Amino acid sequence: MSSKNISNSPLIDRFRRTISYARIAVTSRCNLRCTYCMSEEHEYHSSAGRDTLKTGDIALLIGILAGLGVKKIRFTGGEPLLRNDIAKLVKTAKRTEGIENVSLTTNGVLLHRHLDALLDAGLDALNLSIDTLDRKRYQAITRRDVFLQVKANLDTLLASKALPVKLNVVMMRGINSDEVAEFMEFTRHHAVTVRFMELQPFDDHQIWRTGRFLGLDKIQDMLHEAYPELLPHRGTSTEYFSFSLPGHAGSAAIIPAYTRNFCSQCNRIRITSEGTVISCLYDKQGLNLQPLLERSTAVEEITEVFRTAVREKPEDGRNQGDGENLRTSMSEIGG
Ligand code: SAM
Ligand code: SF4
Repeated sequence: MSSKNISNSPLIDRFRRTISYARIAVTSRCNLRCTYCMSEEHEYHSSAGRDTLKTGDIALLIGILAGLGVKKIRFTGGEPLLRNDIAKLVKTAKRTEGIENVSLTTNGVLLHRHLDALLDAGLDALNLSIDTLDRKRYQAITRRDVFLQVKANLDTLLASKALPVKLNVVMMRGINSDEVAEFMEFTRHHAVTVRFMELQPFDDHQIWRTGRFLGLDKIQDMLHEAYPELLPHRGTSTEYFSFSLPGHAGSAAIIPAYTRNFCSQCNRIRITSEGTVISCLYDKQGLNLQPLLERSTAVEEITEVFRTAVREKPEDGRNQGDGENLRTSMSEIGG
C-alpha cells in the first residue's frame, strides 16, 4: 500500500482544536506485565495475540492522516518493538509528505535489536519507560527480570547521543516514590528528561484504587523539599511542572495526567491496537477502521471516519461516562 499524501482540509473539532498529532498503538502484545497496566493473562483473554493492523494498513492510515494535517506520529502499544516491521513503519512515516516528527514509546527491552535500524529510518525521538533504577523493584513492577538488559540498552542509546530521550516514570506510593533522588541524579550526566507521571485508571488490577496513586502536588512537594534549588522552566503542553537542577545535563517534568485536565489544548487522535479510531483517551468505543482496511479502495471512507471521530471529540473527556467504563489496559491505547 502506498504512503501517498491524500490532500484534504485539516482536522479541526467543534471547540476549534486542530488535530496534528496521531498516536498509533501498533500492537497490544507486550513482553512485560507492568502491574499497573496489564494482567499476566493479558494475551490469552483478549484478541491481543496477533496484531490487527498490518504494515500496509498503518502506512495507508499515516498517509491519510498527513493529508488531514497531522504532522506528528508516535508509535506505541503494547510494546512496539515486538513488531519486526517497526523500523519500516518509522521509515514510512518519515517519508510521508507532511509528517515532521516521528517518535516511539517503548519499554526498551528489545532496543538492542532495533536501534540501528530505527536511527537509519530517521526516528526523531524516543521515550523509554523505566519506573525504577533497581533490578529487584523492576522485576516486582514488571513481573519480568530484564532490568539489566533495559539499562544496558538505555546506556547504549544515551551514549549514541543520536536522539532526544525521555524516561517515563509512573510514580507509585510505597513502590518507587523514594527514588526521585536517584532519577534526579541520573540527569546529572545524562541529557535526558525524566517524566514523573501520575498513575491513571487504565489498569487491569485497578492499582490506582489501592493507595498507590501519587498526585502532582505530592510529587512537587517531594521535589521542592529535596531540591530547594530547583530551576523551573517551560516544558511541553502536557508537562505541567518542568525543571532542572543547576549543573545537570538533563531535566525533569511532572505529567499530571490524572489530576490536571489538558483537554482544552488536546491536539491528539489515537488509533488503538484493535484498529479503532478514538479522539479521546476516555472514549471506550471508538470507530472501527478494520472493515474499511480490508478494502484497498476505502480511502475516502477512512477519511470520513477520521472526520467523524474529530467531530465527536468531547470538550472534556473525563465528563464522559462514569469512570467504570474505561479501557482496562493502557496497552490498547498506548498511553
Ligand atoms: N510498552 C511501551 C512502554 O511501556 O513504554 C509503550 C506502551 S505503554 C502503555 C505507554 C506508557 O503508558 C508507559 O510509559 C507506561 O508506563 C504508561 N502507562 C501504562 N499504564 C499506565 C497507567 N495505568 N497509568 C499511567 N501510565 C501508564
Ligand atoms: Fe507493557 Fe508498556 Fe503496559 Fe508495561 S506499560 S505492560 S511495558 S504495554
